[in-house]
Amino acid sequence: MTTAIVSAMHEELAAVLDLMPDESRRLAAGREFWVGHLHGREVVAVLSRIGKVAAATTAAVLIERFQVSEIVFTGVAGGLGPGVSVGDVVVAESFLQHDLDASPIFPRYEVPLYGASQFRTDAALTARLSAAVARALPQQRLHRGLVVSGDRFVSTDAECRALQAALPQALAVEMEGAAVAQVCHDFGVPFAAVRTISDRADDDAHVDFARFVRDVASRHSAAIVHALLA
Ligand code: SAH
Repeated sequence: MTTAIVSAMHEELAAVLDLMPDESRRLAAGREFWVGHLHGREVVAVLSRIGKVAAATTAAVLIERFQVSEIVFTGVAGGLGPGVSVGDVVVAESFLQHDLDASPIFPRYEVPLYGASQFRTDAALTARLSAAVARALPQQRLHRGLVVSGDRFVSTDAECRALQAALPQALAVEMEGAAVAQVCHDFGVPFAAVRTISDRADDDAHVDFARFVRDVASRHSAAIVHALLA
């Protein structure tokens, strides 16, 4: 039983590695994978890198090369849903690629040949992750639902409003989750994901994102991972 902990940012990975007493570095696909233990459990920690293709490669290598039994993603995201504010935590129940459109051959957002536009996260692992968030960050508001991914840092009011209008159920937007969800679906590996809201994906997103990653994101990720594996 090996748990993969995938972080999107250097700051988050560093905080997770601080919790591992014995990690050793292994290189694959130009990435550094950190193999070791956390609370006595076997763990592989790695940076996803940014964007859907990079994250898909990372997930495939974790599954095929490192034979992980489950993947947990921790990162930050832009808030889209009403009431999803900076500092809140979103646990994903499903993912969709907001920039995938093979219409009119397939409906907008549908992943061709899958007959679906959304991939669900694993219910049991997601329940464990939600419980860990509640223990680790009891004062933070926790939302559960749809997270959307695309190869774009959403950082204008106009684009944010367009996403909200097209996908009113979306709680948050980021750049990796839907890719990892699809790879895990293909291999039958349980997947769960948590994102702390760093910005509102609007005209202020750049400033908010940088400040949040520096001040908060790494503490959040490490606290959640610590509670999940304790
Ligand atoms: N220049 C930045 C790039 C970060 S991209 C840097 O310092 O590295 C933003 C990362 O945070 C992605 O991994 C994405 O998943 C997440 N994210 C946070 N806010 C986002 C937003 N508003 N839109 C898209 N992704 C966002």
